[in-house]
Amino acid sequence: MKTPFHELGLKPEITKAIDALGFEEPSPIQKQAIPALMNGFDIVAQAPTGTGKTAAFAIPIMELIDPTKRTVQALVLAPTRELAVQVAEASHSIGRHCRVNVLPVYGGQAYEHQLRGLRAGAHLVVGTPGRVMDHIRRGTLQLDTVRFVVLDEADEMLDMGFIDDIQLILDQTPPGRQMALFSATMPPRIQALARRYMKSPQTIAVAHEAQDVPLTHQVYYETQQRGKRDALTNILDMQEPHSAIIFCRTRSEAADLASMLQARGYGADAIHGDMSQALRERVLAKFRTNKITLLVATDVAARGLDIPDVSHVINFDIPDDADAYVHRIGRTGRMGRKGEAITLVTPRELRLLRVIEKDIHKKLKPLQLPTYEDVAARRTTSFMEELRKTLRSGTGEPYGLVAAELAQEFSPLQIAAGAIQLAYEATGRPALGAAPPAAESGRMNQAEMTRLVLDAGRRRGVRPGDIIKSVAKDAGIPGSDFGNIDVQDDATFVEVRSTVASKILERAAIVSLRGGEGHLTLARQKSARPASSDRRGQKPRDEKPAAQSKFKKSKTKKSKAQKAKR
Ligand code: AMP
Repeated sequence: MKTPFHELGLKPEITKAIDALGFEEPSPIQKQAIPALMNGFDIVAQAPTGTGKTAAFAIPIMELIDPTKRTVQALVLAPTRELAVQVAEASHSIGRHCRVNVLPVYGGQAYEHQLRGLRAGAHLVVGTPGRVMDHIRRGTLQLDTVRFVVLDEADEMLDMGFIDDIQLILDQTPPGRQMALFSATMPPRIQALARRYMKSPQTIAVAHEAQDVPLTHQVYYETQQRGKRDALTNILDMQEPHSAIIFCRTRSEAADLASMLQARGYGADAIHGDMSQALRERVLAKFRTNKITLLVATDVAARGLDIPDVSHVINFDIPDDADAYVHRIGRTGRMGRKGEAITLVTPRELRLLRVIEKDIHKKLKPLQLPTYEDVAARRTTSFMEELRKTLRSGTGEPYGLVAAELAQEFSPLQIAAGAIQLAYEATGRPALGAAPPAAESGRMNQAEMTRLVLDAGRRRGVRPGDIIKSVAKDAGIPGSDFGNIDVQDDATFVEVRSTVASKILERAAIVSLRGGEGHLTLARQKSARPASSDRRGQKPRDEKPAAQSKFKKSKTKKSKAQKAKR
């Protein structure tokens, strides 16, 4: 399939990787930054996290690097270890067919590991300023071959006191190198830095125009990335939307989310750019006729379609900018009807949310994620409501006969309670009054979860819904026993309630996947130790899997399913 990325004149290795990531079109910042950087300009770009800024510089870097030379050719400086790992992973994904070695270097990780990576010939180094400086001082990192430098989240780096290190590092790079500076804000110190180190940089900022927003109730929930899916299902259970569009950033995310929702018992389906127009229309017809209530979509797929007014628009992924936000939420609250617009925001995306709010001249209302108790109470009430409706409309004769027969053995109250239990369990929801399962709680209780690892991931077309289906069936457990499912390139981490972990390993360790099977084993458990920081005064960060291990070349063959997906 041709996407607008194909028009940017990128190497086929890169468009192939972008296709696999499910990006359908360049984000506004990418539309401007990629051509400018590929034409050799320096750029200063005002772009917070969430706008696609990483790919905006990673794509031109991958275009530039000559993998046959074993020298450091590009350097990205990022304020935190978390961001350095994230940028390294994203760059690795984009350059996966380019034979480019990407190495994250950050404080808190043993030097030996980083030294090995540097000796092996890293082409792109992504590091925190403190650790990069340490390597320069030790003579383990030379920057005289660098052709491209990026300062990512420059304002954060300056706020954290890295200015001296940054200047010392930039002084080590050759004068002819190209440079890109990304920052959410542009205070005078950033402008001074740009003046000192950059050659007539092009300034890039996504145009901000005042936006007209319908009178829709607009709220946001702050949630960690890993708790997003549970947050979504809790919100769905609380709000019980009559019809909702759930927006995702990529087609793979849309497909995965729809299958996860189906596995958890929701009437959901996806529309995205990988599907033919006819197939999209078919899904849309199901949505229009209320056969499904949740439509999981990407912006591009939703754009050309005549989608009816919906009760809820849910931004599972925050949109790139105010334009996209207004476009998305315009699907609800039409013609004076009441509409709900809900946006999930990770802590890193809060700045992007502020930019959107500024552009639409409106503040979104922050809400607390529902707790397990809220959701359980809501489920009970709506279940009772359904039951009342059925009782009022009169139960059919066969049911009356069953009740009469049981009445010879049990009291009417006992019969009713048993029937309610059976019916409630059939909904696939946790039993009423059960202790909050960790996976269902808006605030996940890690102590109750066990992490398993499956020896297959994205490259074999693994989808969370497939794992839940196979394991739930073989182990005889409900979907609610699953926590976060983190699909990586060649492995998938599956969180399950600790009480069912051994049952799963005994009965369901072989998982049926689209292209064959995978094997589940116990994963190395995450340590409870707080992540160490590169520098005093940094915020504590989430633990991340060691990025290097993911960068090893995979020997896994592509599955048919995965090929078909592309
Ligand atoms: P960033 O602002 O670089 O942190 O990117 C935010 C998220 O957007 C990441 O999850 C990217 O994978 C995703 N992303 C970047 N570019 C695109 C694109 N053109 N289409 C869809 N998703 C994208």
